[in-house]
Amino acid sequence: MPETTDQQKFVYDFTEGNKDLKDLLGGKGANLAEMTNLGLPVPPGFTITTEACKVYLESGTEPVALRDEVSAHLDALEKQMGKKLGQADDPLLVSVRSGAKFSMPGMMDTVLNIGLSDDSVAGLAAQAGSERFAWDSYRRLIQMFGKTVLGVDGELFEEALDEAKRAKGVTTDVELDAADLQRLVEEFKGIVAKETGRDFPQEPREQMDLAVRAVFDSWNGDRAKLYRRQERIPGDLGTAVNICSMVFGNLGPDSGTGVAFTRDPASGHQGVYGDYLQNAQGEDVVAGIRNTVPLADLERIDKASYDQLMQIMETLETHYKDLCDIEFTIERGKLWMLQTRIGKRTAGAAFRIATQLVDQGLIDEAEALQRVTGGQLAQLMFPRFDDRACGREGSELLGRGIAASPGAAVGKAVFDSYTAVKWSRSGEKVILIRRETNPDDLDGMIASEGILTSRGGKTSHAAVVARGMGKTCVCGAEELEVDTKRRRMTAPGGIVIEEGEVVSIDGSTGKVYLGEVPVVPSPVVEYFEGRMQADAADADELVQAVHRMMSYADGGRRLQVRANADNAEDAARARRFGAQGIGLCRTEHMFLGERREMVERLILADTEAERDEALGALLPLQKADFVELFEAMDGLPVTVRLLDPPLHEFLPDITELSVRVALAEARREPHENELRLLQAVHKLHEQNPMLGLRGVRLGLVIPGLFAMQVRAIAEAAAERATAGGDPRAEIMIPLVGTVQELEIVREEAERVIAEVEQATGTDLGLTLGTMIELPRAALTAGQIAEAAEFFSFGTNDLTQTVWGFSRDDVEASFFTAYLEKGIFGVSPFETIDRDGVGSLVRSAVKAGRATRPDLKLGVCGEHGGDPESVHFFHEVGLDYVSCSPFRIPVARLEAGRAAALGNGGSDSR
Ligand code: ADP
Ligand code: MG
Ligand code: MG
Repeated sequence: MPETTDQQKFVYDFTEGNKDLKDLLGGKGANLAEMTNLGLPVPPGFTITTEACKVYLESGTEPVALRDEVSAHLDALEKQMGKKLGQADDPLLVSVRSGAKFSMPGMMDTVLNIGLSDDSVAGLAAQAGSERFAWDSYRRLIQMFGKTVLGVDGELFEEALDEAKRAKGVTTDVELDAADLQRLVEEFKGIVAKETGRDFPQEPREQMDLAVRAVFDSWNGDRAKLYRRQERIPGDLGTAVNICSMVFGNLGPDSGTGVAFTRDPASGHQGVYGDYLQNAQGEDVVAGIRNTVPLADLERIDKASYDQLMQIMETLETHYKDLCDIEFTIERGKLWMLQTRIGKRTAGAAFRIATQLVDQGLIDEAEALQRVTGGQLAQLMFPRFDDRACGREGSELLGRGIAASPGAAVGKAVFDSYTAVKWSRSGEKVILIRRETNPDDLDGMIASEGILTSRGGKTSHAAVVARGMGKTCVCGAEELEVDTKRRRMTAPGGIVIEEGEVVSIDGSTGKVYLGEVPVVPSPVVEYFEGRMQADAADADELVQAVHRMMSYADGGRRLQVRANADNAEDAARARRFGAQGIGLCRTEHMFLGERREMVERLILADTEAERDEALGALLPLQKADFVELFEAMDGLPVTVRLLDPPLHEFLPDITELSVRVALAEARREPHENELRLLQAVHKLHEQNPMLGLRGVRLGLVIPGLFAMQVRAIAEAAAERATAGGDPRAEIMIPLVGTVQELEIVREEAERVIAEVEQATGTDLGLTLGTMIELPRAALTAGQIAEAAEFFSFGTNDLTQTVWGFSRDDVEASFFTAYLEKGIFGVSPFETIDRDGVGSLVRSAVKAGRATRPDLKLGVCGEHGGDPESVHFFHEVGLDYVSCSPFRIPVARLEAGRAAALGNGGSDSR
């Protein structure tokens, strides 16, 4: 239980706080205080701390001292304002606003006009010189208070309001006069009494106290709790409550309310961005009740306030050294600031703004790196719809959903998985459209260019699975009515889209178009590919910004970045994207295609001679692959993983083969080889291939297999070296669980390498290491390091085996449920599970380095390209991360960001 000593202070005047006190005052409160102390016009008020909320949450009642402290601050506020809360002839009114450290959904909505009552409404009318204004303010109070504090269904008030308008034959609120609103107040009070069994509180202080308590209670609302669990925000932070004296934007045409940005959150450009609404209060701007005007128009409406606002915006930006967003109100020509915070922005704007601020001398390079994220860079790298074509000629905007998995996809609309698969097999591009998806849709999702659903959010099945597959997805597009039975969808305005019509979906914005929107390559990818120069005179502004941020990152990072690449083409791209080597070359593709037949011969071999012959046929082919790869990566390390997948993956499908054999037998012309193959397939069939005969286990039970691969690597390296190249191969053994396995493979490999070196007269400097991808390997890393010169963490298999998850099975079947219940906020296959899998990595790093101080450490799971995970790998002190070529820029940027943060990177050294 938090201490409640005499000294503890639960209430801070706006003049007492500052922006660094977000833990105590919440984001809104801390920034209100900061603005107050900058001398900006903030309506006076005070903040009740998160500590008071904590006491309330733990004990069920407000801390004893709180009441008196609030009274003291209220007294001071009343003195300053020259009127008392709810004073009959001239009432002081306040707003009660929640404000946690992190803004989160589900916290109580702000209640405005607290202090109004049957008594003071007349006083307010007299002071303002407007009966209508006073009654409108009062009905807003009862409505907001009734709904958010007393929990009355908001619809009841809305219906009463609509009925009043209908009765009068008008359509907007502003057409109701004072008498109408007064009648409405009576009706609203009736609703409150009926629904809650008590009268609307007339005592101003009671109104305030009830609202404060309701803010505290909202901390534990269902939505807030779920959000916190998913985002891993501790449940005991509590929220602050801000009491702010009211200013009125609804006092006539010389009043109004607005929002503003200090620069364009879409492009980053400096200028005047925002919206203004004359004669309006609070939420009216965002509620879209009437049309707002662009902020620039304020100059014409009220030049003095406009000039002052521009000046304040500049003050704020220089002070916060970042784009700020602002809420303000003008009351009869006097400007008031009601909120500011660091503004949200698009990915492109984030890069531009970061470099602009460096140029303005406001921030340094390390700080600039914290202003962008790898996720934003990834967004900028997706191909996108041509802006100029969106919504024009032949491509009409149909609606908008949640941008669940980025990318731009075009295809024919299909409404079930079966059709998706059928059409895509015949070469059509399709977009799978469903109300929501479930595990049965998996095949259809795989076959589609993109997925569109009308239900579900960012953690819905469609969203999770699409992200896992790297597929474009827009979900929860509720305006679109999907009718799977009739294979059609209806968009607002009655536009019907039938099966087969072309649609375009934008997974980065959530927009859905009818027709084909042309896709343009991302200029950022053009830049990474070397097809666009950042220093060219006409270089794209965004490309210039990305280029600069990348050089800051590369200049400071400690982690190296390698690529997962299996062939020369991918290797070359990886190099262009900045890879410093290959961290994972899978060799399984070298056993596919025409070579399958040789693998079959290998598996069916009865005698040593037959086996050697099969291996002998594979050797030159593999060697040729390696020669190409080493050439593409000349001078850089290339980690080659020996064969990993279970052998049955190279054999024909068991059902197909059974049918073939049965048919042949029926025709009485049995095929000897196929029969033997079928027996082999039966023998190799496994209940659980992921945990079966694969990786090092294959190498140990199939004589000569690994030796052949090692020989191919060594001979390729020798050939490159003889030709004057600089091959740097590293041989990696997968799925090792114990050092003995590795020792046996190692002895054989060393023998083969020595033979090749002797025969070719070369010194190849090949190193031998292992993947750490089984819990036992991680737990015995100290022993394994005796036989390994490097470790590469295979975090995909490690996640599967630590959690006991088979990825393909669990992601599609129950991850949505897990995410919805908040068991994890993001799939552990997307972002490394720091506490579980991560702790094994951490201890394996320590143990490995204790045995062998110069042990080289890397990671080659997909996590190597995930922003969060890169930070973790930096912290535990790995030497490199390896990821798919396309993710390399993201990994470089994040490695730079992690280094610039200056935390760790050496805790295991
Ligand atoms: P949110 O976090 O939803 O933005 P706010 O507390 O900022 O909630 O308030 C909602 C609306 O009411 C905003 O438009 C804000 O500017 C306005 N508002 C809040 N307090 C006052 C006040 N004291 N006087 C006038 N308007 C206010
Ligand atoms: Mg606000
Ligand atoms: Mg693996």
